[in-house]
Amino acid sequence: MLAFPDARRKVIEVVTAISRDRAAARELVALDAALGRVLAAPVHADRDYPPFNRSTRDGYAVRAADLRAVGDVLTLVGEIPAGKEFSRAIQAGECVQIMTGAAPPEGADAVEMIEYTRLLGEGGGENSKTPLGRMVLPGRVHFERTARAGQNIVPRGSEARAGQTLLRAGARLGYVELSLAAQVGCVRPEVWVRPRVGILSTGDEVIDAAETPGPLQIRNGNSFSLAAQVESAGAEAVLLGNAPDEAGELKRRIAEGLKLDALVLSGGVSAGKYDLVEGVLTELGAEIYFDSVAIRPGRPAVFAKCERKPVFGLPGNPVSTMVTFELFVLPALDILSGAEARPLPLLRAKLGAQLREKPGLAHFLPARIEWTSGEPVVTNVRWQGSGDVVALADTNCFLVVHEGKLDWEVGEWIDVMPRRGAL
Ligand code: AMP
Ligand code: MG
Repeated sequence: MLAFPDARRKVIEVVTAISRDRAAARELVALDAALGRVLAAPVHADRDYPPFNRSTRDGYAVRAADLRAVGDVLTLVGEIPAGKEFSRAIQAGECVQIMTGAAPPEGADAVEMIEYTRLLGEGGGENSKTPLGRMVLPGRVHFERTARAGQNIVPRGSEARAGQTLLRAGARLGYVELSLAAQVGCVRPEVWVRPRVGILSTGDEVIDAAETPGPLQIRNGNSFSLAAQVESAGAEAVLLGNAPDEAGELKRRIAEGLKLDALVLSGGVSAGKYDLVEGVLTELGAEIYFDSVAIRPGRPAVFAKCERKPVFGLPGNPVSTMVTFELFVLPALDILSGAEARPLPLLRAKLGAQLREKPGLAHFLPARIEWTSGEPVVTNVRWQGSGDVVALADTNCFLVVHEGKLDWEVGEWIDVMPRRGAL
């Protein structure tokens, strides 16, 4: 039985090899529809960034050499809003009112923040609240600080040079990347076509969520959680319904699913008489890399390659399905999407309640982390085991109890896996 980090590594290794051989398609998408997509080509700076020396403050553009002593006064000769050019170079003893994002005029090498200045009114009185519209020129400005050349100015090209790679192929477009792409005019980035991931639940007792269950039937929750996990991972979920616990039909449905880029099954992987997934995969010629991982929930997780497609047989208990997806399927979808496998994000928090876990397995316990005391404190919730999805509703993370240390006291720092979308 594999430890979960080894199982994860195996998935990454196998899927990396699969995706190397796979001829993934590219497409151009509108930037406003590109959230979560993975770049197939890098994005470059179309010009220097910033494209001009940029004032980072509202204040006065000055020649630093003119402000040698606190209380120096300069002659105000105009204003520069963002997007406007000042008509001439400033001379010794002059200053220009400047707004954040505007380009200082020629001759100016520093910007003094408005907060450290006073605009002197007519007759020499203070009039710092003079609206710009009524600014009298030439005016006079009193400076409460000296200036250093370069202060409050970001020089042209200091963020990036024209032609420089700003986003590499393989980068996923989040809000930061979208803003950056927009700024350089990349309004139709080239991205990889999202991998299509089949979702097939199994079980004679499982019915569609819209149907009315008989007393011993179970509505299909896993197809919904899996589709949400697939889509939020940036891949396309293709719902393939539910297959019965009958080898012939299961085989037909799996074979159908193998037309897609990856297949995720739920249920049918435990040791029961009607757990047929692994056997059917073997009959279909699959190479099985693991069929059990030392974790709870989720021990009987199957990972295989069949017709050069990654196939996951996740246990049917909903919490197991969810956890094993995050541990094993998510990195695989990243790689198939053209990105790197995202790391497993583990935070540390102080334990809020004592824990005593059983040996031989790593445990992922539904829990809630809060920062109300300033420090992160995590407490597991009461649950009835891996079928208890009810208990998960009020949680935002999983406490991770590694095999090596099973007894934990209140106040100890422990690993926490955030729940994607909840934290
Ligand atoms: P299995 O892994 O097939 O042994 O199923 C384990 C448990 O998960 C059983 O109690 C099943 O009824 C339940 N289960 C299986 N598939 C689903 C599903 N799609 N949605 C909700 N529960 C399920
Ligand atoms: Mg079953």
